Amino acid sequence: MHTLTLFNSLTRQLEPFQPVHDGEARVYTCGPTVYNYPHIGNMRAYVFADVLGRTLSYKGYKLTHVINITDVGHLTDDADAGEDKMEKMAAERAQSIWDIARHYTEAYWADIKALNIREPAKWSIATDYVPQMIDFAKSIADKHCYELDSGLYFDVSTVADYGRLARAVTEEGESRIETVEGKRNAADFAIWRKTPPGEKRQMEWDSPWGKGAPGWHLECSVMSGDLLGFPFDIHTGGIDHREIHHPNEIAQNQAFCCTNGLDLPANSGARVWMHNNFLVERSGKMSKSSGEFLRLQLLIDKGYHPLAYRMMCLQAHYRSELEFSWEGLGAALTRLKRMLMAAERLADVEAGEARHQKLAPMLDAFDKAMSEDLNTPVALTALEDVLSAKKVDPSAKRAVVELMDGVLGLRLFDMARADLRIRPKAAEISESEIEDVLARRKQARADKDFAASDALRDELAARGIEVMDGDPLGWEWKLG
Ligand code: AMP
Ligand code: ZN
Repeated sequence: MHTLTLFNSLTRQLEPFQPVHDGEARVYTCGPTVYNYPHIGNMRAYVFADVLGRTLSYKGYKLTHVINITDVGHLTDDADAGEDKMEKMAAERAQSIWDIARHYTEAYWADIKALNIREPAKWSIATDYVPQMIDFAKSIADKHCYELDSGLYFDVSTVADYGRLARAVTEEGESRIETVEGKRNAADFAIWRKTPPGEKRQMEWDSPWGKGAPGWHLECSVMSGDLLGFPFDIHTGGIDHREIHHPNEIAQNQAFCCTNGLDLPANSGARVWMHNNFLVERSGKMSKSSGEFLRLQLLIDKGYHPLAYRMMCLQAHYRSELEFSWEGLGAALTRLKRMLMAAERLADVEAGEARHQKLAPMLDAFDKAMSEDLNTPVALTALEDVLSAKKVDPSAKRAVVELMDGVLGLRLFDMARADLRIRPKAAEISESEIEDVLARRKQARADKDFAASDALRDELAARGIEVMDGDPLGWEWKLG
């Protein structure tokens, strides 16, 4: 086996993975803010974290993965003057925050399942940790924070090397942040936001700094430290978090660890910080407000299986930007279908040992690819090489495919090809009607009644269904 090396955003280099606790891997992933549906760009962050987790398991580490759910504290912009996203949405919808949170958390979990993302050991819900957040803030307040009318602020000049994670020129990053009057440094951030006098928030708690709510950065420091123990191994998120959210978490972690006698060099809470690049639309960065809202359900409504999107993610390295297009998604679906067709031949084969002379180089190529900072595009080709290998003991082949698919998560053995064909929501005709016309057409062709066969094909075409005779992939129809 090759040594697992991962790109650490903190040191900006590839590093061999060295667990803090022998044989274990503890990973924290910043989860969604549940004020709206996640878009597929957000889901790329969780496909990446899932592949990381699966790779650590495959490498033999006992994985403890935590993903949080942010149901309080995330403001509408990076300025501390913004509104809480959850409060804002609840007000717009005239619903309680708890209902909003429940609805969108469930929608997010449905996407997690559809993308075959493994359940983490724990989903940590921010509002369950408010007392711990207050304790954390209390322990660092004297040395690292100051109070203003609007809240308790973290003074970034009290920790060494603030912002070393951020890539964007820090000055530029800071100037973007609207300054709250009285802040000592532009980059200082609220760790407790007081409810303004005379106002009542749906979510507020008593604290030594008055009634209010925790800051977003505080919650991730507290949940990751509480559940995984400082220092833990790997912290993940999208590259936007590398600029503000994670530098602020690191500053808090440094303050907490120093104050509480956790004497660790360059203490950042986690040893390795990993960031996935963005999924972008041709028009630029994806946003929930631009054009069609690209959420997983939209892909499904258009007839694309959700795992085609997983395939699309795997086809790119997680540190590369990935451009979304419907053609690209179609190509990923076709590729997945080819793999499933090859796997079908092994459907009744019992897995033997994942060892075979002919498959050894492919296994090695796969292991090397995943070990080199999760190079999934190359790993996919190794899997395809195994699927198409000739004159190989099927039980060994099955075992190797199972092993590789355990890392990539494409469900090659628990899905049938037919499952990939989803009738688009807009199609006027039901699946059983299509099947019925196709069966009649097959009979007409068997009877050499080509006029009838053509008429049936035209009937389907008129209803938006294109019949695909002789398609090597075995698709019998698609939406025209
Ligand atoms: P949020 O709910 O906004 O905190 O985002 C959830 C996760 O999605 C975070 O890890 C973000 O960094 C990540 N993210 C946001 N937009 C994209 C995108 N277009 N592509 C990939 N990841 C993204
Ligand atoms: Zn976070």
